[in-house]
Amino acid sequence: MASVRVAVRVRPMNRREKELSAKCIIEMDGNKTTITNMKMSDGVTGDSLRERTKTFTYDFSYDSGDCKSTNFVSQEKVFKDLGSVVLKAAFEGYNACIFAYGQTGSGKSYTMMGNPGDLGLIPRFCEGLFTRISGMTRADEASFRTEVSYLEIYNERVRDLLRRKSTKTYNLRVREHPKDGPYVEDLSKHLVQNYTDVEELMEAGNINRTTASTGMNDVSSRSHAIFTINFTQAKFDAEMPSETVSKIHLVDLAGSERADATGATGVRLKEGGNINKSLVTLGNVISALADLSQDGGNSNVKKRQVFVPYRDSVLTWLLKDSLGGNSKTIMIATVSPADVNYGETLSTLRYANRAKNIINKPTINEDSNV
Ligand code: ADP
Ligand code: MG
Repeated sequence: MASVRVAVRVRPMNRREKELSAKCIIEMDGNKTTITNMKMSDGVTGDSLRERTKTFTYDFSYDSGDCKSTNFVSQEKVFKDLGSVVLKAAFEGYNACIFAYGQTGSGKSYTMMGNPGDLGLIPRFCEGLFTRISGMTRADEASFRTEVSYLEIYNERVRDLLRRKSTKTYNLRVREHPKDGPYVEDLSKHLVQNYTDVEELMEAGNINRTTASTGMNDVSSRSHAIFTINFTQAKFDAEMPSETVSKIHLVDLAGSERADATGATGVRLKEGGNINKSLVTLGNVISALADLSQDGGNSNVKKRQVFVPYRDSVLTWLLKDSLGGNSKTIMIATVSPADVNYGETLSTLRYANRAKNIINKPTINEDSNV
């Protein structure tokens, strides 16, 4: 049993926020994050019944707002804390997942993929994987097989980001294997031998992701990208040969401003497709799982009534194991520091707070049929 670990990361003010002379409303201290509602007066007057500030505690609170600050958290630090946990899990034979959640422009892609000179979790993870493999000595008597795939979910349809021909076609089907669970039919898997191999694929996939969105309004902020690494280790040292298989999902979610179906009114409701079913369902799944774990052992009746709606969306169906199942999972909630984003940021902090309650059941995936 292991709780989902939750990190919150605040980015620097962007140009637009600076131009608006936005105030910074996020403060971090240790693992605590405090948000201030600037629209409320400070104390004595009418607002005194409601709190002007709210404080949340997470596993990690990352202040990446000001690189001159002594508490500044770099890409390297995020990898050291979180990426290395997943790397360790992979070598131990566990499934793992990191997903980034937050409003558009809050730093999800920066955290997961990063920029060329400032790499994010996915490239650092892949680099770490191969560094560790090449550091193995003959005495370790193990062999490794690493395969990657990269897909995008948009409007509940899936496309392969690593197949040239499918650039604009979201036509892959999600199916279920009786033993291995949900998977994407015909998704390409690419055997990689070193980091350069991965780098080429990542680059091609990222280009694919952005170019297809030109001309299609807003696709990349409304789509979910899942980079998956299938990592197999065979060991022959002991009397009994063994094989472990771990599946690592690294997920860059759609902008969370689309998550709130109840907030969708007028124009957005009429457009219909603008409500992101996968994101809404993710919220419902997280809520259901949080309720399940909070019931504790108190009421079996209640427990049976909590239904987790994995099958309601493509995203939650594919990530079923990562959410309440067999996986070590980490959520990174990314937020803007600016008062102009108060509503979205508070909603992200609450969402992240709820995700802390999810209990997973990771087990080592050892294959006995070797
Ligand atoms: P999202 O994927 O959530 O829409 P991005 O990751 O694209 O947002 O971030 C928006 C912009 O802010 C990008 O230009 C990105 O480089 C920058 N940015 C985000 N987070 C950070 C950070 N922690 N430090 C520096 N720049 C950041
Ligand atoms: Mg992005």
